Amino acid sequence: MKNNDQTQSETTVYPELSLNIIARQEHNVSRKKISDNALKVLYRLNGAGFDAYLVGGGVRDLLLGQSPKDFDIATNATPEQIKQLFRNCRLIGRRFRLAHIMFGRDIIEVATFRGHHQEPSKNVSAQSKEGMLLRDNVYGTIDEDAERRDFSINAMYYSISDYSIHDYAGGVEDLEDRLIRLIGDPDTRYREDPVRMLRAIRFAAKLDFDIEEDTAEPIEHLAHLLQDIPSARLYEESLKLLQSGYGLETYHLMREYNLFQQLFPVLAEHFTEDYSSPTELMLDLVLDSTDIRIEEGKRINPAFMFAAMLWYPLNSLAESLMTDRKLGHYDAIMEASNIILDQQVKTIAIPRRHTATIREIWQLQLRLPRRNGKRAFRLMELNKFRAGYDFLEMRGEVEGEETEQLAKWWETFQNAGRNMRQAMVADVDSSSSASKSGRRRKTYRKKKSKPES
Ligand code: ATP
Ligand code: MG
Repeated sequence: MKNNDQTQSETTVYPELSLNIIARQEHNVSRKKISDNALKVLYRLNGAGFDAYLVGGGVRDLLLGQSPKDFDIATNATPEQIKQLFRNCRLIGRRFRLAHIMFGRDIIEVATFRGHHQEPSKNVSAQSKEGMLLRDNVYGTIDEDAERRDFSINAMYYSISDYSIHDYAGGVEDLEDRLIRLIGDPDTRYREDPVRMLRAIRFAAKLDFDIEEDTAEPIEHLAHLLQDIPSARLYEESLKLLQSGYGLETYHLMREYNLFQQLFPVLAEHFTEDYSSPTELMLDLVLDSTDIRIEEGKRINPAFMFAAMLWYPLNSLAESLMTDRKLGHYDAIMEASNIILDQQVKTIAIPRRHTATIREIWQLQLRLPRRNGKRAFRLMELNKFRAGYDFLEMRGEVEGEETEQLAKWWETFQNAGRNMRQAMVADVDSSSSASKSGRRRKTYRKKKSKPES
């Protein structure tokens, strides 16, 4: 991110919103669908004399009849006042100060209503030259808070005092029309926070909504602004985009809007008109299988996804290292791994624990073909064997031929009993010792021919 703490003297023009209140009997949001912990927080705030609302995805998803991923709460209590009310409360964030109320592993996020930046004061708000908000801690009224939210469908507030829904930006109507619509002037709102472009795509894919015309129009042209976003935030965002159950659809939409290319420049070099390069085939495979795993409630590992996405770019770089720098295959892959990961973490800060796993999955691709002696048995003992094998299987689908046969061999081997496994290895042993003795014979012949010449 550019380190630019200058505040702008000009003020943003905020849209005039008109509030529409939907009484309890006119909507389908029931308290039964709200988590007990979220209700506890709402009631405690309210009981202490503060206003408290459920807001954002919680209200949106409940109105759509879906179960929300999390429950966000907005209140007129300041973070300090919230902290006094809850023993299990932690204040977090700098750009955006928030209270986290902890219930074991469940965290309820409580935000104080945000206000406008009419009189920029250095300590609470800051904006970069490009119009990006760097700090955002001016507190305000609920009306102002609504104007500051991203999309109309995310600016609906469920009141715990009378169970009505306060709709500030026509969110209910946009839900009916299935539209993602930015609040205010799209160009300004994207410049304030370019991540909103990614959020527009994410919600469109997840909810199967269209992006309203004026909201969609500036995206392609402003996509490059994502380059100013810190890589740690883009890492978090990339997981929400690709590992929330709608990754395949999200990737295709992101590509259409030139957004995917900003986050994954290493992959973009391998993109083709008809989506047919091995990199693109692998992207479709790994994102589809991630979506299916999520649907089935299985565990997913970000390292696996990144390893698969970057594999073919890694290999084409390794190939050029082999010709340009005369490296052997193994060394070229190792060197290319360093280069590719260094490049990728510049835009998306994949944490070290994951890059270590990514390397392990890649290295296993070099080891899985070598199954003779005790090797196959030892490989199966490795922690990351399963990930390495699953990835080999995906490669088989892209590459066919030898890779596919190798994946089949491993599948059979895993399902086989002890005797069968030994027979399979003996088979590999005899074919590899045949080729070994072949090699030896060649050297022998050479040596033999030496004295003659
Ligand atoms: P989900 O949690 O299902 O991904 P959500 O809409 O709840 O979707 P969160 O990231 O949890 O998304 O944010 C909660 C709310 O905060 C949003 O609904 C929106 O009102 C507001 N918000 C979040 N990020 C931004 C942003 N970058 N700009 C403006 N408002 C935002
Ligand atoms: Mg949320």
